[in-house]
Amino acid sequence: MKTVHTIQDVRNQVRQWRQESLTVGLVPTMGNLHAGHMSLVKTAKQHSDKVVVSVFVNPTQFGPNEDFDTYPRTLEQDADLLTQHDADLLFAPSVAEMYPQETFTWVDVEHLGDRLCGAKRPGHFRGVTTVVSKLLHIAMPDHAYFGEKDYQQLAVLRRMVEDQLFATAVIGVPTERDASGLALSSRNGYLSEADKEQALTIYRTLTQARQAIEAGERDYAELCQQSTERLEQAGLTVDYFEIVDANTLAPAQKNTAALRILTAAFLGTTRLIDNVGTIFVDI
Ligand code: AMP
Repeated sequence: MKTVHTIQDVRNQVRQWRQESLTVGLVPTMGNLHAGHMSLVKTAKQHSDKVVVSVFVNPTQFGPNEDFDTYPRTLEQDADLLTQHDADLLFAPSVAEMYPQETFTWVDVEHLGDRLCGAKRPGHFRGVTTVVSKLLHIAMPDHAYFGEKDYQQLAVLRRMVEDQLFATAVIGVPTERDASGLALSSRNGYLSEADKEQALTIYRTLTQARQAIEAGERDYAELCQQSTERLEQAGLTVDYFEIVDANTLAPAQKNTAALRILTAAFLGTTRLIDNVGTIFVDI
């Protein structure tokens, strides 16, 4: 696997692959790679002839009081892991490479990006969509792979690609969890073993809510309330716990056919997100 740091190097490599009629998949990440990211790489290897992985801690998607400065940067380990998983190109640009001048042009997906995490982290999705838009212009992939772990991000990016007529198909990949059920995340590195045990309540509560719906529960507001209380009792501070339409992310109604349950909660200063579904209900 080759590691490159400049946009020009990516373009040159991709141009060569295209001349050989090879298809290209892109896996955008912020690095500190784990088995969740590798699941995206494995899926990409199945669909695309060549797989580009980007590692870029994108400053514009972090709020002023968030963890941009302390976010784990582990490029050497990331490169080793990607080599083991047969990725073809690692693109690890500097901030100056991706943002060579003050940004006047932003990509912003209205509505889908304004709710849930978007309401709690103003500007976050605008940062994500702007940087992913740049990465798609740089690598011009046939496919781009994103995790369902960040379900709202996946929905926002799908919409961006549709609205902006990108020639890339967005592929969603199921959430990779550890044996206990905890969703793998780079931010889990901020947690002690005791914290991880506490964090497990998130997946357990989501699963319990899913089971309740599968058993016929349709009072979604009540279910969200109970779930929030359960998380708070376990010592978490809940940002939101919502049952939404899996496609529009609007709050679920009695006649919503496909449901997704999403939550974000703080464990100390670490913000964790997770979601389950999609649940199809008879209406
Ligand atoms: P990040 O490095 O956290 O920005 O994540 C990069 C990509 O990996 C995103 O598309 C995430 O949704 C995806 N991802 C992160 N964790 C997981 C996981 N546990 N399972 C599946 N995909 C994941």
